[in-house]
Amino acid sequence: SLEQGPEGPETPIQVVLRVRPMSAAELRRGEQSALFSCTVFTFGQTGSGKTYTLTGPPPQGEGVPVPPNLTGIIQRTFIWLLDRVQHLGAPVTLRASYLEIYNEQVHDLLSVGSPRPLPVRWNKTRGFYVDQLRVVEFGSLGALMDLLQMGLTRRRSSAHTLNQASSRSHALLTLYISRQTVSMPPGDPGEPPMAGKLCFVDLAGSEKVAATGSRGELMLEANSINRSLLALGHCISLLLDPQRKQSHIPFRDSKLTKLLADSLGGRGVTLMVACVSPSAQCLPETLSTLRYASRAQ
Ligand code: ADP
Ligand code: MG
Repeated sequence: SLEQGPEGPETPIQVVLRVRPMSAAELRRGEQSALFSCTVFTFGQTGSGKTYTLTGPPPQGEGVPVPPNLTGIIQRTFIWLLDRVQHLGAPVTLRASYLEIYNEQVHDLLSVGSPRPLPVRWNKTRGFYVDQLRVVEFGSLGALMDLLQMGLTRRRSSAHTLNQASSRSHALLTLYISRQTVSMPPGDPGEPPMAGKLCFVDLAGSEKVAATGSRGELMLEANSINRSLLALGHCISLLLDPQRKQSHIPFRDSKLTKLLADSLGGRGVTLMVACVSPSAQCLPETLSTLRYASRAQ
């Protein structure tokens, strides 16, 4: 019989991943670790728990900690990361950027100036990137949470919030990790450069336009949302189809897929969390979320 854990029966088969450290030969060759380039995105209709999954419940008040079993993926990842960094014993620099894509326009959620759309550009070394995006150094979980809070406030207070638009935009939080280079005695190649990034994507609500009776402005939103989500679904299914592995992946179809191109198409790992509501009223949207998720798996 299966052990009954606090969260229900445990699955009979579990798959875990163990990554060994770089070998001496790999280090000599100066190979770069492909670790830490990870993307997590949450998908589902508005109110299904996407933001909760990434960030956990909102703070109950100043100094009231969120119970550890309720914290979001971002907090858990960060705590794990700090632990790894301490084990590595190497000084690292942690930086974060936080942006929102709304109606195919990119806005910096950490910028201090007045909000204006930033251009997405491409070059050979960087791939797609957001020009003039603010990247902020931080040193602790508290500081990261402050940045997240600052961004969430900005996301909520922007003009389009009048129509509940925070659920109509995609938010991308990216953490950049780089090992500080230490000077080595001559002849010692030292540790290879290590750089990675973690991307957390809170996607816009996937509900259909008709369900909310949108017109005009909202219609434009819904079209850009669906365009990004469709483009994302399309890219993922192409990337996962072994027969079409070599085929052209249409990352250029939307801002979202452009900015996720190196995460999805590179050597990174991607986790998609599909969020659904338990209520019977939401069943049609739940089914469409499950269909999207099964196409992506
Ligand atoms: P979304 O971002 O998909 O619109 P939210 O994350 O804002 O949805 O969740 C909607 C509501 O449901 C919020 O009040 C949130 O606190 C609650 N909620 C979502 N997921 C959970 C969960 N796993 N446990 C408890 N409450 C949750
Ligand atoms: Mg949300």
